[in-house]
Amino acid sequence: MPENSALQNINTKKFQQDLVGWYEAEKRDLPWRRERDPYKIWVSEIMLQQTRVDTVIPYFNRFMEQFPTVESLASADEDAVMKAWEGLGYYSRVRNLQSAVKEVAERYGGTVPSDRNEFLSLKGVGPYTGGAVLSIAYGLPEPAVDGNVMRVLSRILTIWDDIAKPSTRKVFEEAVRHLIYKEDPSSFNQALMELGAMICTPSSPSCLLCPVQNHCQAFEEGVQRELPVKTRKKSDKKVRIGALVLQAPDGTVLIEKRPESGLLAKLWQFPNMELPVGINPRGALASYMETEYGMTVQINPEKVTDITHVFTHLTWEIDVYVGTVDVKVQKDRTAFVPAHEIETYAFPVSHQKIWKHVKGMDQ
Ligand code: SF4
Repeated sequence: MPENSALQNINTKKFQQDLVGWYEAEKRDLPWRRERDPYKIWVSEIMLQQTRVDTVIPYFNRFMEQFPTVESLASADEDAVMKAWEGLGYYSRVRNLQSAVKEVAERYGGTVPSDRNEFLSLKGVGPYTGGAVLSIAYGLPEPAVDGNVMRVLSRILTIWDDIAKPSTRKVFEEAVRHLIYKEDPSSFNQALMELGAMICTPSSPSCLLCPVQNHCQAFEEGVQRELPVKTRKKSDKKVRIGALVLQAPDGTVLIEKRPESGLLAKLWQFPNMELPVGINPRGALASYMETEYGMTVQINPEKVTDITHVFTHLTWEIDVYVGTVDVKVQKDRTAFVPAHEIETYAFPVSHQKIWKHVKGMDQ
């Protein structure tokens, strides 16, 4: 028996009809909605995490042209996969996706497992992605609860638990298990997501247009703007960085590959270092290049731009300098690359911006 009193009061059958009926009539035509292929649904769900639908559409289409099947992604060159993801951010998503897809190719003969435990054991597949793929592609009555769905259900059922706490997800999963339309879990879950995206939006829900207004406890009580409860995490760690775009006499530019793990792993970047407070950036960068790369460099006196990049828990403030080197020294993870080839490498957004600025200076 459900504990939430709004859940006890709701007319489940009518709620399902109103929600799924609205979805069938109003749903947006999105490329992955034309698919039942679990691999494609899976890729779309990974792309959509933390990223807007409009941004994802062209990436999804290009990715599917390049890697249309489990096998093609499993056997793809890692750099090509990173390049296809460039600009979407949160790169661990695509690294985990490719590892997981390799496992699907090797262990499951290329068929995405429909067993919950098997699918959830794959790298990067959490309860949300698991529920979304299993319900949308395989029609299984699994909850797919993300921040959107928690917002919508916290309002419909007046759930006051703090959605920033990981343990709260279980409360919502229970609610979905109770409410889900077993005849068509795919449409039910997608309808909840669509309602969150189009109607029951974070700051100004369009209650007057809402297909489930009659079932919504928060609307009845007039508290829809107070829900969901979400405590804020502080994310004000700032790191000041000096970055250097260095040109050799033959016109090539020095880039380096980031480490195998950690933030933005395996992406390319311009040499850079964290600048301690009060230090002279040019002097620090010159001695860094000497000790880390064995190169004596000349750095122009003024920084050419500064770039701020905000991650979830961290902000980079990057001072960008340009300079030259007379003698090229190669290291394991570095490359001197002709300027016209720089854009064929996968860079994080902040370093794409650096290159865009420096390239523009030459024109
Ligand atoms: Fe959200 Fe308003 Fe609809 Fe309730 S009535 S589900 S608060 S849009």
